Amino acid sequence: MMVDDEMRKKLVQAALEARQWAYAPYSNYPVGAALLTASGKIYDGVNVENAAYPTGMCAERVAVFKAVSEGERQLAAVAVVTANGGMPCGACRQVLSEFGKDTLVLIANDKGELVLETSVEKLLPSAFGPTDLNLEA
Ligand SMILES: [Zn+2]
Repeated sequence: MMVDDEMRKKLVQAALEARQWAYAPYSNYPVGAALLTASGKIYDGVNVENAAYPTGMCAERVAVFKAVSEGERQLAAVAVVTANGGMPCGACRQVLSEFGKDTLVLIANDKGELVLETSVEKLLPSAFGPTDLNLEA
């Protein structure tokens, strides 16, 4: 799916707006994500931390799980907004790769400025995937 400049801006803006709902009282590092699916829908997500630290969840995975739980299986692009243009963690890269290695990844800061444009494949080359579980392949 071609993701034009207008859509890229829209995704970064959606991630920026979602970021206000991040629940990050421990890290003070709010993250907003916005995911474009192949069907053209946008799902946003924020990091949701917890007093029991490991039970929190990243913004990117919240967005993916929201999309998948509504029947989406193909991702086209994801925008991630943090204060300083931070990168998705390894776990999020793995989850994103399950639903599209070609997924465009837009990393932006809290001014909405694009810091990096990349892809899931570039962020996690040779990822473990569904075919690794198929012993007959
Ligand atoms: Zn993450």
